[in-house]
Amino acid sequence: MSTRTRIAPSPTGDPHVGTAYQALFNYVFAHQNGGQFIVRIEDTDRNRLVEGALEGILDMLEWLNLPPHESPTVGGPHAPYIQSERAEKHRQYAQQLVDAGKAYLSFETPEELEEMRAAAAARGDEYGGYDRRYRTLDPLEAQKRADAGESYVVRLKVPLEGETVVQDLLRGAVTFKNSELDDKILLKSDGFPTYHLAAMCDDFDMGITHVIRAEEWLVSTPIHIQIYRAFGWPEPQWIHTPWLLGDGGKKLSKRTGDVSVKSYRAKGVLPEALLNYLGMMGWSMPDGRELFSVQDMEEHFSWERVSLGGSIFDFAKLKWLNGKYIREVLSLEELASRLHAYLLENSLLENGETLELNTTFRQVVKMLTPRMDLFSEFMAKTHYFWSEDFEYTEKARGVLESSREVLSDLLERLSTLENFSPEVTHDFFQAYALEKGIKLGKVMSPLRAAVAGTLESPEMGPMLEALGKEKVLARVRRALEF
Ligand code: GLU
Repeated sequence: MSTRTRIAPSPTGDPHVGTAYQALFNYVFAHQNGGQFIVRIEDTDRNRLVEGALEGILDMLEWLNLPPHESPTVGGPHAPYIQSERAEKHRQYAQQLVDAGKAYLSFETPEELEEMRAAAAARGDEYGGYDRRYRTLDPLEAQKRADAGESYVVRLKVPLEGETVVQDLLRGAVTFKNSELDDKILLKSDGFPTYHLAAMCDDFDMGITHVIRAEEWLVSTPIHIQIYRAFGWPEPQWIHTPWLLGDGGKKLSKRTGDVSVKSYRAKGVLPEALLNYLGMMGWSMPDGRELFSVQDMEEHFSWERVSLGGSIFDFAKLKWLNGKYIREVLSLEELASRLHAYLLENSLLENGETLELNTTFRQVVKMLTPRMDLFSEFMAKTHYFWSEDFEYTEKARGVLESSREVLSDLLERLSTLENFSPEVTHDFFQAYALEKGIKLGKVMSPLRAAVAGTLESPEMGPMLEALGKEKVLARVRRALEF
């Protein structure tokens, strides 16, 4: 049987890094085993839907380059892949369990439910809720009441005694007492399925062999096993991945960290770096190397190397890793074209509409490579390359004021240079400093302040070459007038 994995995200907001994390592990495991990775959108909870969220999830997968074999957009043999479009099937499945005596119609009103909850709380019973009062109602009688128009839900008949053991690939046997499980609702009073019913029926219909999902679902798994058993279906393999943690070691959430993949993308994190970083969450390469690709993961992945402790999602580390991709993984050509596309996509070119993907752009990218961890830093660090209209920083102003003599010297002598290649300007600065008996820094700082408006700019030689003689001289002139 071919390995089939899935992610089943709910379209309730911006795509979450947790979804990217699940996608990565599901994708890698399916590919490693020559199987299929499926995307099913779980939109049964109609109240939590957010417009555009479905597209956001599919976009994210495209950006990450984790293409599903089957999904709402690529289709597949088990379409539809949007859960709400499968509701008729879910109703039939619920009926099948009612007919088999594995589920029952339950007529409790909201007031009754409230009373049950209060009674359970008074008993100090933290698991208590619904007291199963309709479980023993004669099915014929129940059907009559339903036919007469009374509102009902369908509930699963969970065994009252014994235990349900979840065999988790990472955790071994995790045992739950059946007395602590609820007769979970399968079908709501509006005739729509709950997550529990819909997800398990879809997993079965879609031939999912490995349910790989976040640890938070482990507590629902005994119910899911009971649903599988009620139908008489063979269980999939359960795998609950470790927590992603945020600030303070708490579960990663909006409150403990930035969870939006879109926001990392907007900051100029590379998809490869994000995937690499997520791959390091709870898993490691056998040789301990930190830089690895999805293909490397496919080659070396094993569940034995997953540690369950939970990993902190730390933006500083992600940023560091992104810098490594910028410096060590991408070729200059690739880096320049992706950075250019990023600037366009995020409308960061502003007054640099003329900023073309040309030699100068590549030269500047090359200069910036040692100083940039995120694409979003690029414009702020290079604005003076693209526009004459830049301000001087406080420090630059100080240097300009105290170096007028050097600057007018430079203006005069630089204009006699044939070309501005780094070799030529380098020799020129050396000779000038020697002649004047001053440190090289006393020459460079004023020039830096004049041409870049800041003392923090890349190496002088390549910078002057990229700017060109005309601009450099004009800027020194402007600085002298200042
Ligand atoms: N719809 C659930 C979610 O949004 C999926 C849980 C599961 O993978 O079974 O995370």
